[in-house]
Amino acid sequence: MRQSKLFTKTLKQAPKEELSLNAQLLIKAGYVDKLMSGAYTYLPLGLRVLEKIKDIVRTEMNNLGGQEILMPALLPKEPWQKTGRWDEPGEEVMFQFQGRSGKDLGLGWTHEEIVTPLMKQFVQSYKDLPVAVYQIQDKFRNEPRAKSGLLRGLEFSMKDLYSFHANEDDLLEYYEKSKTAYLNIFKHCGLEARIVEASGGDFSKFSHEFQVFTEYGEDTVFYCSKCDFAQNDEICELKAGDKCPECEGEIKEAKAIEVGNIFPLKTKYSKDFDFTFTDKEGKQKPVIMGCYGIGPSRVLGSVVEVHHDDKGIIWPEKIAPFQVHLLKIGDSDEVDKASENLYQELKEREIEVLFDDREESAGVKFNDSDLMGLPVRLVVSQKTLKKQVVEYKFRKEENSEELSQEELFSKLK
Ligand code: ATP
Ligand code: MG
Repeated sequence: MRQSKLFTKTLKQAPKEELSLNAQLLIKAGYVDKLMSGAYTYLPLGLRVLEKIKDIVRTEMNNLGGQEILMPALLPKEPWQKTGRWDEPGEEVMFQFQGRSGKDLGLGWTHEEIVTPLMKQFVQSYKDLPVAVYQIQDKFRNEPRAKSGLLRGLEFSMKDLYSFHANEDDLLEYYEKSKTAYLNIFKHCGLEARIVEASGGDFSKFSHEFQVFTEYGEDTVFYCSKCDFAQNDEICELKAGDKCPECEGEIKEAKAIEVGNIFPLKTKYSKDFDFTFTDKEGKQKPVIMGCYGIGPSRVLGSVVEVHHDDKGIIWPEKIAPFQVHLLKIGDSDEVDKASENLYQELKEREIEVLFDDREESAGVKFNDSDLMGLPVRLVVSQKTLKKQVVEYKFRKEENSEELSQEELFSKLK
């Protein structure tokens, strides 16, 4: 893509009332626009990143045997009354309003109430189990403090998967596999997530959160410095300095962002909707359920919180909007021609490249490039042409190298 054709521009300053670092950087670099607290427009560059994150999530969910569906975000009151959640938590979380002739409606903030009766129509026998469905969709929550940019939206992207099983062992086996899938997702997105025990509600001893440790996180986690033990502060009875209950390690405290959460729901929702199946012996039994959530937009915000420096964003390769930022420096015919040729060559090799072909000064281009944060920067200038090289620099490193075209292409492979 040519930067001269990109309608967005970088900004000198993020809006004053924007307090979060992730949104400040994303707005300045032209990835998102703020409509109001908790609601952001994804501009072309930001949308590319979000879609890449969703694709990583999709691939792992398909590997887990998930079948993708899309449920409405606009929901009727009745199924929520069945579980009691129309009133509790009710409007504390759910946007509720009336349509024509007073019909009560709400916006989806999770979908157990919709997916359970949906799957009940298709699952009758043990032969129909196990089965898993998922969707990637915007969810809505009436959050009290939407001040953390993409980390806490009133509207935000969520992947929610629901699994259905004939017995608890089968659920638990699937649940363990889902942990691996989740860790893969975060690794591909450039995040190191830690599995943390959290409240299991009234259905299980624990649910499990995936927490990214960073000082800007809103959650508090207690973890062992030696083993895998970790719990969030809502359930943990230990404090920093205590001895780990599972090994000799010391308990430490950290701030963290919850990027995912999985729950062994067991029969919680199948009971409310009378969702049963016929087992091998011909007996009716409740279907055993699990649910699994990830927020792609919160992941995007977390990546920026973790991967940046004082000049701007530093995208991990797999979710960068483009792999290469090609900068044309100077405006002689020679530089025009050489940079244009290199741009075409890169495209032919299917390397994702953003070509800064604008009539701007070198300073502006270098600053914008650092702010936007693509993994590799290439420079074509009068100076590089004289030496018959291209300047090559990783965003995350200080030094640049000079490479011949041949060296460049073998390196980019
Ligand atoms: P939190 O405790 O941060 O409010 P939650 O525990 O209520 O989140 P879940 O219901 O577990 O959230 O939702 C699953 C995932 O959806 C979360 O792990 C997170 O990645 C994402 N998510 C939840 N709420 C928001 C939000 N307001 N904005 C962006 N992402 C969110
Ligand atoms: Mg959660």
